[in-house]
Amino acid sequence: MKKIGILIGSLLWLAFTLQAQFVAEPYARKIVDTLSHDYFAGRGYVEDGDLRAAHFIAAEFNRMGLQRFPKAMTYFQTFHFPVNTFPYPVVAIAGKDTLRTGIDFVPAASCPTIQGEYKLVWVDSALLSNEKRFRKFSKLRFDKIFLVMDDKGISTEDTKKAFKNLGMNPYGAKGIIRIKDKITWSVATDTTSYAQLDVVRNSLKREHKTMQLSIKNRFVSQHTTQNVIAYMPGTTVPDSFIVLTAHYDHLGKIGPNVTFNGANDNASGVAMMLSLAKYFSENPQWCKYSISFIAFAGEEAGLIGSKYFTMNPIIPLNKIRLLLNVDLMGGGEDGITVVNGKEQPRIYQTMTTINNELQLLKTIKERSNAPNSDHYYFAEAGVPAVFLYTMGSYKHYHDVNDRAENLELTKFNEVFTLITELIKRY
Ligand SMILES: [Zn+2]
Repeated sequence: MKKIGILIGSLLWLAFTLQAQFVAEPYARKIVDTLSHDYFAGRGYVEDGDLRAAHFIAAEFNRMGLQRFPKAMTYFQTFHFPVNTFPYPVVAIAGKDTLRTGIDFVPAASCPTIQGEYKLVWVDSALLSNEKRFRKFSKLRFDKIFLVMDDKGISTEDTKKAFKNLGMNPYGAKGIIRIKDKITWSVATDTTSYAQLDVVRNSLKREHKTMQLSIKNRFVSQHTTQNVIAYMPGTTVPDSFIVLTAHYDHLGKIGPNVTFNGANDNASGVAMMLSLAKYFSENPQWCKYSISFIAFAGEEAGLIGSKYFTMNPIIPLNKIRLLLNVDLMGGGEDGITVVNGKEQPRIYQTMTTINNELQLLKTIKERSNAPNSDHYYFAEAGVPAVFLYTMGSYKHYHDVNDRAENLELTKFNEVFTLITELIKRY
């Protein structure tokens, strides 16, 4: 018995070292550094950021000898959607203090153009819990002011409700400023009727009586972008597909100088998808089924690229045996989460088995489906699809610090091994 134990042990060890031979990380590092470079303008909606990134990914596919889908003739699947952008310098001066764009404040993604100097009126727990003060407040000339919304200390149900209502319908105020402990940015496909900014708590003080603003948006009603799609033909069952996806878009820029590089979100996921493409293009013996690689656009604007694909599928959705979407691949010291793993027990259990055998990650957590990345519309359409993200100490998310030099790719090789092994066993 003991001998068999040793034999099994050494076989597992052999299997593990064979796995470990392909070290994905150096290539992935290059991809993360490249896609997070300012040249790609945050892979968004100014300076052709997303288009530049799409061409880069297509060039990688081409270099690996991956195929284009015959009907498409190109790696690109083009589509359009509306998007709000800020190509010009954005200025906010509180009292006499100039706030730093991206650090002290951001305009809300849906902010329209606003120019001028406005009085600041604080909406906080002191105002909302004092009837007399609130009566006085409601008689103000709102078209001349910005409301500063500070939810610190707002605790009763009534004040919470009043705060929320004011935030959604600010009495015709020129705009609102939300006080935040941490500011994050996003992408909007529309604009609001009043201006909105998010400001870091310590950057705006009660002594600041006024705010001088110069924000000019450019609303692009038909932004053209593209998913980037390639495949390796399968050797045994070529009309069945395993699909590996990652979104390549991020948030773009605010003005000429503030770039959201999106190293973890999601240059790291594209690096994983491309590392897998590289591996399988060099090891076609593992492609029993065809394997397709998709870099989606428009994810940050609301999963637009992946939704477009499911409505205009280049691969028949019922031919997809397994879809793995990766996003936020930079961490992993606390393991990974498998979104839609609860609904896809076979995928989740195979991963857990592999992880137990090869001791790759601390934990593999499962979660129910949620519309939080590009697997979602596939899962809704009945495709066996899951979304993997890493968990760990990396906390830069949708901010200007999500940069390549801050990202360690801590468990990149382990997650890579987990995915390749899953595909081999599927
Ligand atoms: Zn993302």
